[in-house]
Amino acid sequence: MPYRTFLQQIAPLAQLSPGQVQKLTTPDRILEAPLTVAGKSYPAYRVQFNNARGPYKGGIRFHPHVTKEEVTSLAFWMTIKTAVVNIPFGGAKGGVSVNPKELSEAELEELSRAYVRAFYKHLGPTKDIPAPDINTNPQIMGWMLDEYEKLKGRKAPAFITGKPLALGGSTVRDIATALGGVYVLEEALKKLKLKAKTVAIQGFGNAGMNAAKLLKEKGYAIVAVSDSQGGVYNEEGLDPYQAEEIKKAGGMLGCYCLGTVCSLEQMPKEGSCRFIANEELLELPVDILIPAALGQVITRDNATRIKAKVVLELANGPTTAEADEILHQNNILVIPDILANAGGVTVSYFEWQQNRKKEQWKEAVVRKKLESKMKRAFKSIWRQHTPERTLRTTAYIYALQKIVQKLRRS
Ligand code: GLU
Repeated sequence: MPYRTFLQQIAPLAQLSPGQVQKLTTPDRILEAPLTVAGKSYPAYRVQFNNARGPYKGGIRFHPHVTKEEVTSLAFWMTIKTAVVNIPFGGAKGGVSVNPKELSEAELEELSRAYVRAFYKHLGPTKDIPAPDINTNPQIMGWMLDEYEKLKGRKAPAFITGKPLALGGSTVRDIATALGGVYVLEEALKKLKLKAKTVAIQGFGNAGMNAAKLLKEKGYAIVAVSDSQGGVYNEEGLDPYQAEEIKKAGGMLGCYCLGTVCSLEQMPKEGSCRFIANEELLELPVDILIPAALGQVITRDNATRIKAKVVLELANGPTTAEADEILHQNNILVIPDILANAGGVTVSYFEWQQNRKKEQWKEAVVRKKLESKMKRAFKSIWRQHTPERTLRTTAYIYALQKIVQKLRRS
Protein backbone atom coordinates (compact mmCIF):
# COMPACT_ATOMS: atom_id res chain seq x y z
CA MET A 1 0.00 0.00 0.00
CA PRO A 2 1.41 3.42 -0.84
CA TYR A 3 2.52 5.24 2.31
CA ARG A 4 0.02 8.03 1.61
CA THR A 5 -2.95 5.67 1.74
CA PHE A 6 -1.54 4.04 4.85
CA LEU A 7 -1.08 7.36 6.57
CA GLN A 8 -4.57 8.49 5.68
CA GLN A 9 -5.97 5.30 7.21
CA ILE A 10 -4.00 5.67 10.39
CA ALA A 11 -4.53 9.44 10.74
CA PRO A 12 -7.73 9.23 12.85
CA LEU A 13 -6.12 6.72 15.24
CA ALA A 14 -3.09 8.99 15.68
CA GLN A 15 -5.42 12.02 15.92
CA LEU A 16 -3.72 13.85 13.09
CA SER A 17 -5.28 16.99 11.65
CA PRO A 18 -5.72 17.30 7.86
CA GLY A 19 -2.84 19.81 7.87
CA GLN A 20 -0.58 17.35 9.63
CA VAL A 21 -1.53 14.56 7.24
CA GLN A 22 -0.75 16.88 4.35
CA LYS A 23 2.67 17.72 5.83
CA LEU A 24 3.48 14.09 6.60
CA THR A 25 2.56 12.82 3.14
CA THR A 26 4.61 15.44 1.30
CA PRO A 27 8.36 15.00 1.03
CA ASP A 28 10.27 18.21 1.69
CA ARG A 29 12.56 17.75 -1.31
CA ILE A 30 13.10 15.26 -4.13
CA LEU A 31 16.52 15.51 -5.74
CA GLU A 32 17.28 13.58 -8.91
CA ALA A 33 20.17 13.43 -11.33
CA PRO A 34 21.51 11.01 -13.93
CA LEU A 35 24.96 9.65 -12.99
CA THR A 36 27.22 8.74 -15.89
CA VAL A 37 29.78 5.97 -15.49
CA ALA A 38 31.69 4.34 -18.38
CA GLY A 39 29.37 5.96 -20.91
CA LYS A 40 26.20 4.67 -19.26
CA SER A 41 23.68 6.77 -17.41
CA TYR A 42 21.99 5.70 -14.15
CA PRO A 43 19.08 7.58 -12.55
CA ALA A 44 19.90 8.63 -8.99
CA TYR A 45 17.73 10.09 -6.23
CA ARG A 46 17.88 11.61 -2.77
CA VAL A 47 14.54 12.21 -1.12
CA GLN A 48 14.52 14.36 2.01
CA PHE A 49 11.18 13.60 3.54
CA ASN A 50 10.93 15.40 6.84
CA ASN A 51 13.34 17.06 9.28
CA ALA A 52 11.02 18.17 12.08
CA ARG A 53 12.95 16.05 14.59
CA GLY A 54 16.48 16.74 13.31
CA PRO A 55 18.71 16.47 10.22
CA TYR A 56 17.53 14.17 7.42
CA LYS A 57 18.95 10.66 7.83
CA GLY A 58 18.89 7.54 5.71
CA GLY A 59 20.80 5.11 3.55
CA ILE A 60 21.57 4.93 -0.15
CA ARG A 61 20.76 1.77 -2.08
CA PHE A 62 22.13 0.56 -5.37
CA HIS A 63 19.58 -1.71 -7.02
CA PRO A 64 18.04 -2.11 -10.49
CA HIS A 65 14.52 -1.75 -9.01
CA VAL A 66 15.17 1.68 -7.50
CA THR A 67 12.56 4.25 -8.54
CA LYS A 68 11.71 7.72 -7.34
CA GLU A 69 8.50 6.38 -5.78
CA GLU A 70 10.29 3.62 -3.90
CA VAL A 71 12.96 5.97 -2.56
CA THR A 72 10.21 8.36 -1.44
CA SER A 73 8.39 5.63 0.51
CA LEU A 74 11.66 4.54 2.07
CA ALA A 75 12.39 8.16 3.07
CA PHE A 76 8.96 8.34 4.71
CA TRP A 77 9.77 5.13 6.62
CA MET A 78 13.06 6.59 7.80
CA THR A 79 11.14 9.56 9.22
CA ILE A 80 9.01 7.12 11.21
CA LYS A 81 11.93 4.85 12.14
CA THR A 82 14.06 7.60 13.69
CA ALA A 83 11.04 8.63 15.78
CA VAL A 84 10.40 5.03 16.90
CA VAL A 85 13.87 4.76 18.44
CA ASN A 86 13.75 8.38 19.54
CA ILE A 87 16.93 9.66 17.91
CA PRO A 88 17.10 13.34 16.88
CA PHE A 89 16.94 12.83 13.13
CA GLY A 90 14.38 13.17 10.39
CA GLY A 91 14.03 10.86 7.41
CA ALA A 92 15.62 10.62 3.97
CA LYS A 93 16.67 7.95 1.51
CA GLY A 94 18.84 7.71 -1.56
CA GLY A 95 19.10 5.31 -4.41
CA VAL A 96 20.64 4.63 -7.78
CA SER A 97 18.90 2.47 -10.33
CA VAL A 98 21.81 0.21 -11.18
CA ASN A 99 22.85 -3.41 -10.91
CA PRO A 100 26.14 -2.98 -9.05
CA LYS A 101 27.11 -6.59 -9.85
CA GLU A 102 27.57 -5.52 -13.45
CA LEU A 103 30.09 -2.80 -12.53
CA SER A 104 33.82 -3.17 -12.04
CA GLU A 105 35.25 -1.96 -8.74
CA ALA A 106 36.58 1.20 -10.40
CA GLU A 107 33.14 1.89 -11.90
CA LEU A 108 31.45 1.33 -8.56
CA GLU A 109 33.80 3.85 -6.98
CA GLU A 110 33.10 6.33 -9.77
CA LEU A 111 29.35 5.87 -9.32
CA SER A 112 29.64 6.46 -5.56
CA ARG A 113 31.69 9.61 -6.08
CA ALA A 114 29.34 10.84 -8.81
CA TYR A 115 26.42 10.46 -6.39
CA VAL A 116 28.08 12.81 -3.92
CA ARG A 117 29.01 15.33 -6.63
CA ALA A 118 25.38 15.40 -7.77
CA PHE A 119 23.82 16.03 -4.37
CA TYR A 120 26.48 17.28 -1.94
CA LYS A 121 25.11 20.81 -1.71
CA HIS A 122 22.06 19.40 0.03
CA LEU A 123 23.96 16.96 2.24
CA GLY A 124 26.11 17.49 5.34
CA PRO A 125 26.56 16.64 9.04
CA THR A 126 23.74 18.95 10.16
CA LYS A 127 21.63 18.76 7.00
CA ASP A 128 21.32 15.23 5.66
CA ILE A 129 23.51 12.29 6.63
CA PRO A 130 23.67 9.28 4.27
CA ALA A 131 24.47 5.68 5.24
CA PRO A 132 24.57 2.20 3.70
CA ASP A 133 21.53 0.28 2.50
CA ILE A 134 21.04 -2.57 0.02
CA ASN A 135 24.27 -3.23 -1.94
CA THR A 136 26.17 -0.35 -0.34
CA ASN A 137 28.83 -0.94 2.31
CA PRO A 138 31.55 0.72 4.42
CA GLN A 139 33.94 0.93 1.48
CA ILE A 140 31.36 2.83 -0.56
CA MET A 141 30.72 5.14 2.44
CA GLY A 142 34.49 5.74 2.56
CA TRP A 143 34.60 6.77 -1.13
CA MET A 144 31.60 9.03 -0.62
CA LEU A 145 33.20 10.66 2.42
CA ASP A 146 36.42 11.25 0.54
CA GLU A 147 34.55 12.88 -2.34
CA TYR A 148 32.58 15.09 0.04
CA GLU A 149 35.71 16.19 1.91
CA LYS A 150 37.44 16.99 -1.38
CA LEU A 151 34.52 19.12 -2.51
CA LYS A 152 34.31 20.92 0.83
CA GLY A 153 38.07 21.21 1.32
CA ARG A 154 37.88 20.05 4.95
CA LYS A 155 37.47 16.94 7.09
CA ALA A 156 33.85 16.08 7.82
CA PRO A 157 33.53 12.50 9.13
CA ALA A 158 30.02 13.18 10.46
CA PHE A 159 28.84 13.65 6.85
CA ILE A 160 28.12 9.94 6.46
CA THR A 161 27.68 6.91 8.74
CA GLY A 162 28.51 3.25 8.25
CA LYS A 163 32.11 4.21 7.39
CA PRO A 164 35.08 1.91 7.91
CA LEU A 165 36.43 2.12 11.47
CA ALA A 166 39.67 3.70 10.24
CA LEU A 167 37.70 6.64 8.77
CA GLY A 168 35.69 7.31 11.92
CA GLY A 169 33.15 4.52 11.73
CA SER A 170 31.65 3.03 14.87
CA THR A 171 32.23 -0.36 16.33
CA VAL A 172 29.03 -2.51 16.16
CA ARG A 173 27.66 -0.55 13.14
CA ASP A 174 28.37 -3.53 10.88
CA ILE A 175 26.06 -5.84 12.84
CA ALA A 176 23.75 -3.16 14.24
CA THR A 177 20.64 -3.89 12.19
CA ALA A 178 20.72 -7.56 13.10
CA LEU A 179 21.70 -6.98 16.73
CA GLY A 180 18.96 -4.41 17.24
CA GLY A 181 16.50 -6.90 15.75
CA VAL A 182 17.67 -9.62 18.13
CA TYR A 183 17.19 -7.36 21.17
CA VAL A 184 13.65 -6.56 20.09
CA LEU A 185 12.88 -10.17 19.21
CA GLU A 186 13.93 -11.42 22.62
CA GLU A 187 11.76 -8.80 24.34
CA ALA A 188 8.81 -9.89 22.21
CA LEU A 189 9.38 -13.58 22.98
CA LYS A 190 9.41 -12.75 26.69
CA LYS A 191 6.09 -10.91 26.40
CA LEU A 192 4.57 -13.78 24.42
CA LYS A 193 6.08 -16.31 26.86
CA LEU A 194 7.34 -18.19 23.83
CA LYS A 195 10.32 -20.50 24.03
CA ALA A 196 11.23 -20.22 20.36
CA LYS A 197 13.97 -22.37 18.90
CA THR A 198 13.77 -22.57 15.11
CA VAL A 199 14.46 -19.74 12.69
CA ALA A 200 14.26 -19.28 8.91
CA ILE A 201 15.97 -16.26 7.36
CA GLN A 202 15.35 -14.91 3.89
CA GLY A 203 18.31 -12.81 2.78
CA PHE A 204 21.97 -13.40 3.49
CA GLY A 205 23.30 -9.85 3.21
CA ASN A 206 24.40 -7.70 6.13
CA ALA A 207 21.15 -8.01 8.11
CA GLY A 208 20.29 -11.66 7.37
CA MET A 209 23.76 -13.13 7.75
CA ASN A 210 24.50 -11.32 10.99
CA ALA A 211 21.09 -12.23 12.40
CA ALA A 212 21.87 -15.89 11.60
CA LYS A 213 25.22 -15.66 13.39
CA LEU A 214 23.87 -13.83 16.44
CA LEU A 215 20.89 -16.13 16.87
CA LYS A 216 22.98 -19.25 16.37
CA GLU A 217 25.33 -18.00 19.12
CA LYS A 218 22.30 -17.58 21.38
CA GLY A 219 21.30 -21.20 20.84
CA TYR A 220 18.57 -20.92 18.20
CA ALA A 221 18.52 -23.44 15.35
CA ILE A 222 18.84 -21.64 12.01
CA VAL A 223 17.08 -24.16 9.78
CA ALA A 224 17.11 -22.18 6.55
CA VAL A 225 18.87 -19.22 4.94
CA SER A 226 18.64 -17.92 1.40
CA ASP A 227 19.78 -15.23 -0.98
CA SER A 228 18.50 -14.13 -4.38
CA GLN A 229 19.64 -17.46 -5.88
CA GLY A 230 17.69 -19.58 -3.41
CA GLY A 231 18.87 -21.14 -0.20
CA VAL A 232 19.54 -24.10 1.97
CA TYR A 233 17.35 -25.98 4.41
CA ASN A 234 18.74 -28.23 7.13
CA GLU A 235 16.31 -29.57 9.69
CA GLU A 236 19.16 -30.00 12.20
CA GLY A 237 20.17 -26.33 11.93
CA LEU A 238 22.91 -24.67 9.89
CA ASP A 239 26.23 -23.09 10.68
CA PRO A 240 26.00 -19.55 9.24
CA TYR A 241 29.78 -19.22 9.21
CA GLN A 242 30.07 -22.21 6.90
CA ALA A 243 27.30 -20.84 4.70
CA GLU A 244 29.27 -17.60 4.48
CA GLU A 245 32.38 -19.52 3.45
CA ILE A 246 30.51 -21.20 0.60
CA LYS A 247 29.29 -17.81 -0.64
CA LYS A 248 32.75 -16.28 -0.33
CA ALA A 249 34.16 -19.12 -2.40
CA GLY A 250 31.67 -18.14 -5.13
CA GLY A 251 29.18 -20.92 -4.41
CA MET A 252 25.41 -20.79 -4.01
CA LEU A 253 23.93 -21.35 -0.55
CA GLY A 254 22.31 -24.55 -1.81
CA CYS A 255 25.83 -26.05 -2.03
CA TYR A 256 26.11 -25.87 1.77
CA CYS A 257 25.04 -29.50 2.19
CA LEU A 258 27.89 -30.64 -0.06
CA GLY A 259 30.38 -28.42 1.76
CA THR A 260 31.85 -27.18 -1.48
CA VAL A 261 31.06 -24.95 -4.48
CA CYS A 262 28.67 -26.77 -6.83
CA SER A 263 26.24 -26.28 -9.70
CA LEU A 264 22.45 -26.00 -9.37
CA GLU A 265 22.14 -29.56 -10.74
CA GLN A 266 24.50 -30.95 -8.11
CA MET A 267 22.62 -29.50 -5.12
CA PRO A 268 20.58 -32.03 -3.17
CA LYS A 269 16.89 -31.33 -3.78
CA GLU A 270 15.57 -33.67 -1.10
CA GLY A 271 16.64 -35.13 2.23
CA SER A 272 17.31 -33.50 5.59
CA CYS A 273 19.78 -31.00 4.07
CA ARG A 274 18.74 -29.62 0.71
CA PHE A 275 18.23 -26.67 -1.61
CA ILE A 276 15.20 -24.52 -0.79
CA ALA A 277 13.49 -21.92 -2.97
CA ASN A 278 12.78 -18.51 -1.47
CA GLU A 279 9.01 -19.01 -1.63
CA GLU A 280 9.18 -22.28 0.28
CA LEU A 281 11.50 -20.85 2.93
CA LEU A 282 8.85 -18.31 3.91
CA GLU A 283 6.32 -21.07 4.51
CA LEU A 284 8.48 -23.35 6.68
CA PRO A 285 7.03 -24.53 10.01
CA VAL A 286 9.47 -22.53 12.16
CA ASP A 287 9.01 -20.43 15.29
CA ILE A 288 10.59 -17.29 13.86
CA LEU A 289 10.63 -16.07 10.28
CA ILE A 290 13.02 -13.25 9.39
CA PRO A 291 12.54 -11.59 6.01
CA ALA A 292 15.86 -9.77 5.63
CA ALA A 293 16.04 -9.12 1.90
CA LEU A 294 13.73 -7.12 -0.33
CA GLY A 295 10.25 -5.67 0.16
CA GLN A 296 6.82 -7.22 -0.53
CA VAL A 297 7.68 -10.88 -0.17
CA ILE A 298 4.82 -11.75 2.20
CA THR A 299 1.69 -11.03 0.24
CA ARG A 300 -2.00 -11.89 0.15
CA ASP A 301 -1.02 -14.97 -1.91
CA ASN A 302 1.26 -16.64 0.62
CA ALA A 303 0.25 -15.06 3.96
CA THR A 304 -2.23 -17.82 4.82
CA ARG A 305 0.58 -20.38 4.45
CA ILE A 306 3.02 -18.65 6.84
CA LYS A 307 3.46 -20.92 9.85
CA ALA A 308 5.92 -18.95 11.98
CA LYS A 309 4.70 -17.57 15.31
CA VAL A 310 6.75 -14.40 15.05
CA VAL A 311 7.89 -12.48 11.96
CA LEU A 312 10.85 -10.16 12.51
CA GLU A 313 11.03 -7.69 9.63
CA LEU A 314 14.72 -6.95 9.14
CA ALA A 315 14.03 -5.93 5.53
CA ASN A 316 12.20 -2.71 4.78
CA GLY A 317 8.57 -3.35 3.82
CA PRO A 318 8.60 -7.16 3.40
CA THR A 319 4.90 -7.57 4.30
CA THR A 320 2.13 -6.04 2.22
CA ALA A 321 -0.81 -4.41 4.04
CA GLU A 322 -3.19 -7.23 3.08
CA ALA A 323 -0.73 -9.87 4.28
CA ASP A 324 -0.28 -7.93 7.52
CA GLU A 325 -4.00 -8.24 8.23
CA ILE A 326 -4.01 -11.98 7.45
CA LEU A 327 -1.02 -12.64 9.74
CA HIS A 328 -2.66 -10.62 12.48
CA GLN A 329 -5.87 -12.64 12.20
CA ASN A 330 -3.81 -15.83 12.33
CA ASN A 331 -2.26 -14.68 15.59
CA ILE A 332 1.22 -14.27 14.14
CA LEU A 333 3.10 -11.38 15.71
CA VAL A 334 4.80 -9.21 13.11
CA ILE A 335 7.54 -7.06 14.62
CA PRO A 336 7.42 -4.24 12.07
CA ASP A 337 10.44 -3.02 10.11
CA ILE A 338 10.28 0.46 11.62
CA LEU A 339 11.12 -1.13 14.97
CA ALA A 340 12.80 -4.42 14.02
CA ASN A 341 15.49 -2.97 11.76
CA ALA A 342 16.00 0.39 13.47
CA GLY A 343 19.25 -0.82 15.08
CA GLY A 344 21.19 0.24 11.98
CA VAL A 345 20.17 3.87 12.10
CA THR A 346 20.49 3.87 15.89
CA VAL A 347 24.18 2.97 15.76
CA SER A 348 24.50 5.45 12.89
CA TYR A 349 23.37 8.05 15.39
CA PHE A 350 26.03 6.86 17.85
CA GLU A 351 28.63 7.04 15.07
CA TRP A 352 27.56 10.59 14.24
CA GLN A 353 27.73 11.57 17.92
CA GLN A 354 31.25 10.09 18.21
CA ASN A 355 32.37 12.05 15.13
CA ARG A 356 30.83 15.30 16.39
CA LYS A 357 32.46 14.91 19.81
CA LYS A 358 35.72 13.53 18.36
CA GLU A 359 35.31 10.41 20.48
CA GLN A 360 35.59 6.68 19.93
CA TRP A 361 33.38 4.50 22.06
CA LYS A 362 34.24 0.94 23.07
CA GLU A 363 32.25 -1.96 21.70
CA ALA A 364 30.64 -2.75 25.05
CA VAL A 365 29.47 0.87 25.37
CA VAL A 366 27.87 0.90 21.92
CA ARG A 367 26.19 -2.48 22.50
CA LYS A 368 24.74 -1.30 25.82
CA LYS A 369 23.44 1.92 24.29
CA LEU A 370 21.88 0.03 21.39
CA GLU A 371 20.27 -2.49 23.71
CA SER A 372 18.83 0.26 25.84
CA LYS A 373 17.42 2.21 22.84
CA MET A 374 15.88 -0.87 21.24
CA LYS A 375 14.36 -2.23 24.43
CA ARG A 376 13.01 1.16 25.41
CA ALA A 377 11.36 1.55 21.99
CA PHE A 378 9.88 -1.93 22.18
CA LYS A 379 8.55 -1.45 25.70
CA SER A 380 7.02 1.96 24.95
CA ILE A 381 5.22 0.56 21.93
CA TRP A 382 4.17 -2.64 23.70
CA ARG A 383 2.68 -0.59 26.53
CA GLN A 384 0.39 1.15 24.03
CA HIS A 385 -0.37 -2.03 22.14
CA THR A 386 -3.83 -3.57 22.11
CA PRO A 387 -4.58 -6.98 20.58
CA GLU A 388 -7.11 -5.67 18.07
CA ARG A 389 -4.37 -3.69 16.32
CA THR A 390 -1.23 -4.84 14.61
CA LEU A 391 2.02 -3.93 16.34
CA ARG A 392 2.82 -1.95 13.19
CA THR A 393 -0.22 0.27 13.69
CA THR A 394 0.73 0.89 17.32
CA ALA A 395 4.33 1.66 16.36
CA TYR A 396 3.15 4.14 13.71
CA ILE A 397 0.83 5.90 16.12
CA TYR A 398 3.63 6.13 18.67
CA ALA A 399 6.08 7.56 16.10
CA LEU A 400 3.61 9.91 14.44
CA GLN A 401 2.72 11.48 17.75
CA LYS A 402 6.38 12.14 18.41
CA ILE A 403 6.83 13.79 15.01
CA VAL A 404 3.67 15.84 15.29
CA GLN A 405 4.82 17.37 18.60
CA LYS A 406 7.79 18.82 16.73
CA LEU A 407 5.73 19.86 13.72
CA ARG A 408 3.68 22.09 15.99
CA ARG A 409 6.77 23.85 17.14
CA SER A 410 8.43 24.15 13.75
N1 GLU B 1 19.73 1.84 5.58
C1 GLU B 1 19.46 1.62 6.96
C2 GLU B 1 17.97 1.72 7.23
O1 GLU B 1 17.16 1.54 6.35
C3 GLU B 1 20.30 2.51 7.86
C4 GLU B 1 20.10 3.97 7.70
C5 GLU B 1 21.08 4.83 8.48
O2 GLU B 1 21.92 4.29 9.18
O3 GLU B 1 20.98 6.05 8.33
O4 GLU B 1 17.55 1.89 8.34
